[in-house]
Amino acid sequence: MYRKIAMFGLIKKIFGTQQTRTLKKYQKLVEKINSQEKLYQNLSDTELKGKTTELKKRYQNGETLDDLLVEAYATVKNMCRRMVGTDVHVSGYEQKWDMIPYDVQLLGAIGMHNQAIAEMQTGEGKTLTAAMPLYLNALSGKPVHLVTVNDYLAKRDCEWIGSIFRHLGLSVASLTNDIHPSHRKEIYANDIVYGTASEFGFDYLRDNSMAMQKEHQCQRGHFFAIVDEIDSIMIDEARTPLIISGPTSENRQMYEELKDDVSHLVKKQRELCSKLATDARKELEALECFSEEPKKLSKQEIEQKQDAFKKIWVVSKAVPRHKILKRIRENPDLRAEMEKWELYFHNDVNKEEKQKFLSSLFIIVDEKSNEYELTDKGISACIEKGKGEEDFVMLDLGHEYALIDQNTSLSDAEKMEKKNALVKTDAFRKEKSHNLRQLFRAHLLMEKDVDYIVQDNSIVIIDENTGRPQPGRRFSDGLHQAIEAKESVKIQGETQTYATITLQNYFKMHDKLAGMTGTAITEANEFKEIYNLEVLQIPTNVPCVRTDEDDQIYMSEREKYHAILKEILKENEKGRPILIGTESVEVSEKLSRILKQNRLPHTVLNAKNHTTEAEIIAEAGNPKSITLATNMAGRGTDIKLKKNARELGGLHVIGTTRHQSRRIDRQLRGRSGRQGDKGSSVFFVSFEDSLMRLFATPRMTSLLQRFRPPEGEPVSAKMLNKSIETAQKRVEQRNYTIRKHTLEYDDVMNKQRSELYAFRNEILRSENPIEIAKDLIHEICHSMAYQFASGSHKVFEAKGYRDFLMTHFPVSFEIDEFGTDAEKAANAASEKVLSHFEKMIAFQNEVIIQLHPETKEHGKHKNVLNGIIRNLILSKVDQSWQKHLLQIDHLRSDVQLQSFAQKDPLLEFKQQAFYLFDEFSKEIRTEITMDLFRIQMALPEPQPLSKTKLSFQKDDSDKEIEGKIVSLNPKTGRNDACHCGSGKKFKKCCAET
Ligand code: ADP
Ligand code: MG
Repeated sequence: MYRKIAMFGLIKKIFGTQQTRTLKKYQKLVEKINSQEKLYQNLSDTELKGKTTELKKRYQNGETLDDLLVEAYATVKNMCRRMVGTDVHVSGYEQKWDMIPYDVQLLGAIGMHNQAIAEMQTGEGKTLTAAMPLYLNALSGKPVHLVTVNDYLAKRDCEWIGSIFRHLGLSVASLTNDIHPSHRKEIYANDIVYGTASEFGFDYLRDNSMAMQKEHQCQRGHFFAIVDEIDSIMIDEARTPLIISGPTSENRQMYEELKDDVSHLVKKQRELCSKLATDARKELEALECFSEEPKKLSKQEIEQKQDAFKKIWVVSKAVPRHKILKRIRENPDLRAEMEKWELYFHNDVNKEEKQKFLSSLFIIVDEKSNEYELTDKGISACIEKGKGEEDFVMLDLGHEYALIDQNTSLSDAEKMEKKNALVKTDAFRKEKSHNLRQLFRAHLLMEKDVDYIVQDNSIVIIDENTGRPQPGRRFSDGLHQAIEAKESVKIQGETQTYATITLQNYFKMHDKLAGMTGTAITEANEFKEIYNLEVLQIPTNVPCVRTDEDDQIYMSEREKYHAILKEILKENEKGRPILIGTESVEVSEKLSRILKQNRLPHTVLNAKNHTTEAEIIAEAGNPKSITLATNMAGRGTDIKLKKNARELGGLHVIGTTRHQSRRIDRQLRGRSGRQGDKGSSVFFVSFEDSLMRLFATPRMTSLLQRFRPPEGEPVSAKMLNKSIETAQKRVEQRNYTIRKHTLEYDDVMNKQRSELYAFRNEILRSENPIEIAKDLIHEICHSMAYQFASGSHKVFEAKGYRDFLMTHFPVSFEIDEFGTDAEKAANAASEKVLSHFEKMIAFQNEVIIQLHPETKEHGKHKNVLNGIIRNLILSKVDQSWQKHLLQIDHLRSDVQLQSFAQKDPLLEFKQQAFYLFDEFSKEIRTEITMDLFRIQMALPEPQPLSKTKLSFQKDDSDKEIEGKIVSLNPKTGRNDACHCGSGKKFKKCCAET
């Protein structure tokens, strides 16, 4: 029974050779570092510190970081040696420094400089390992960041490991949530910064979507980052992007109107299934199917039994977690029978019968793929309840437009009106169908107290990895609102995204990226494929002697918990510390109740406070201590054995289920057996665990039938270990596909975002935005001219072009000014518009000087105007980008509907998003250039100079500006006043002269 699991044998075979070669190469460097460090032992403290300046200089003189690696690492190692015995202030305590990097730490450090993920077990000292690549890369003077799991660790590691850098003359700081935006620039100015992923990511978003002056941008760039616990960031958090959002002016949602219809239908289906399930159970009971020794059935009885199972099958397609199903599955024979019927209906021969059964349902739920589907019956029920059938038919806009265009009886204006009405209907139908989908999802696939909790009349998400409530976070895409509707709490308004990025895309921006964690090898492929990061498995400092026992597998959850309790009692008796890992807060609370009933003192770790979390974990190594923790809780703090806990057998880890990924299991096991300590681990599994329920194979059931143990005994079939692993691999693969898919959507946005941010930064950082403004005007005049020559005949439409120019710029044109050549026309137009623009600039400069004569010296007035123009362009960019993001949000939900039309949603999304971005970039240029002519330096009625201020007007409402009414063109809603400030219409004023 006790056996070390050879789980990674295969992976080793594949990766082995490559890994060994790399490690051999690095080992040579390690030897060099060590002999260099010996030499350094003879240096004085000042001489050692002087290394930093020396190495920095050599880098500037052309040596590469690779060239400097040996000396830099030796410098760090030697500094550590000198620090031994000194006091370091960490997290409020004085600690004696006692660390000199081990050789394996040097290996990991070399790997990370070469952009690998160093896989080092818990307790191997990754925090210290990172110090070396951080120091080396910071010698370049470029920004170097270490990404931690939480604020507590950012602070701790900055104080603790940061002391090495401070001794060596480099600056280091921690970036935590409580640091005010106005102080962040100072933090980033340090050579090395410790902080969490979301702090770094949000600062990036703020720098690029909110800063109005380059001085307000706090980050210095993205050179080198090491991500601690990289699997948790890149894999577990992969589906939650960082979002800066705010309320939207446009509200499309209709959850309130639809919620009753949906819950009514769901309820109807539940009732239907409960009846089916109860009938089936009664029939099976009557046939004595639940008894230990089932009786022999007559032909008629066999038919009855078949009918019952068909009913059960129908229920499993509608309410997969029905409690009667659960009871039936507990019996291996009945479980096998259920699987038999699953196969039966899977067979094409029985397709018709399957359809007949399924059509009795309203909704079909597929728990495994986390999807559901309305049947025809379900759709008709919706229509009956709802407001008519046509709402469910999506419009083919292209086709409808063509019909309108062909209709000769309509005037142009009428056509426009009809098209507008169509767009509205289309948006309404899409929104309604989207809201319905999300409401159904909320009812069928989101479970209260598992996926979310209801707290203070609001919905709080439960993190699926940590089991922690996540107040303030919301499910995206309207799902949160749908759940609010389902639970009858206040439905929050729709919000709109101002800026967003996924953590992965944020980290991908770095010139050099590296990572470290105890668990990466099982996801090595994903890291390679998506991030181009190699996983390098670093051997442990001292061989690991932990015993990993075989899984204990039980038929039912009830038996499993009994067994866990027995295990705890047994190990607690011996005095060993025990760590119990649970999948969710719910399970840890359940176990906590069981322990209380049995008078076993214990600590539950699902706190929201990382500081206490770290303290609890630190105590978890005491003899007889029992700690209940959700999986990710306390990551980053290791469990050290206290007193005689080592002799008693070390830490015993109990897993209360196998997780959806082997990586999480390894993470938990890895808590025990650090640095050669004794220890052991065991997992308890039941066939009711979600992993087993959803992904177990029929082979397992047939094994169970043969080996069904007496109540309370574990199933001891070695083959099952393999099967569980196979199930996990399947889930891992599936989750990987989902993550990849999300990233594919995000990649589209990532390209657009980087293009826009680059444009925005160009403006932000330009000393002379007026020149950029002129370029824009020139560009618009040209691109529009070509647009008017792009019709089917390639004939230049001078009139159209003229109309465009006159509605957008305060300049008048005669039609014969243009001729028939687009290029010539564009040149003529751009010359005229630009000359008008320059006149306006000159005039505004005059105004500024009049208002603030002191600015005339050194031409400062020009800076003022440049500043105003920069502001104007930036605000327009931000506004338009937000609008664009909103459209993309809507597009994302709209394309989901395309899958019904047999189209690939991702492909549709890519095409549409590309088209929208194209439109967006045209529009934004046009709007900026228009706005440029609307700068209005107000010359107020005489009043004390100190009170006057400069302002520019970019409001669309008729508004009093500094004592003057600006007239807006009623047709275009634009400000047509002449910009010389005369208040007259432009044509009657400057443009004519
Ligand atoms: P990890 O992040 O790899 O789980 P930590 O960086 O938290 O590990 O370090 C675990 C413990 O090992 C720390 O308490 C630290 O003091 C100790 N440690 C790390 N490196 C050394 C070393 N070279 N010599 C002595 N102790 C070390
Ligand atoms: Mg760590």
